[in-house]
Amino acid sequence: MGLYSEAWFEYKQLRNQLLLAYLGFPVTFALKWVWRFFPDWVAFAGYILFLVWALVLFGMEVRLRGLTCFHCGKKFASQWWYQRSTLLAPECAHCGLKKYAEH
Ligand SMILES: [Zn+2]
Repeated sequence: MGLYSEAWFEYKQLRNQLLLAYLGFPVTFALKWVWRFFPDWVAFAGYILFLVWALVLFGMEVRLRGLTCFHCGKKFASQWWYQRSTLLAPECAHCGLKKYAEH
């Protein structure tokens, strides 16, 4: 068990939830065509689901982008002059800690 094992485990959980949310998001959009055959209140509930899903997705993305490095405590994927997706960042933008490194 490395020094950062638990922190990386939590990161992986958040990453997997975000990927699932991204996969599910087009489904909520596609359901728009299905819901038109149902009463208005079902279609309205569908729009609410779409909006809530979008907000949750946005919140998860913000949370992941705000991930701080477990070693140096600065933003893992971003410098002051650029923003990088934490999902795609192979290492800390500040101290070079490799993603999933144990120490
Ligand atoms: Zn760092």
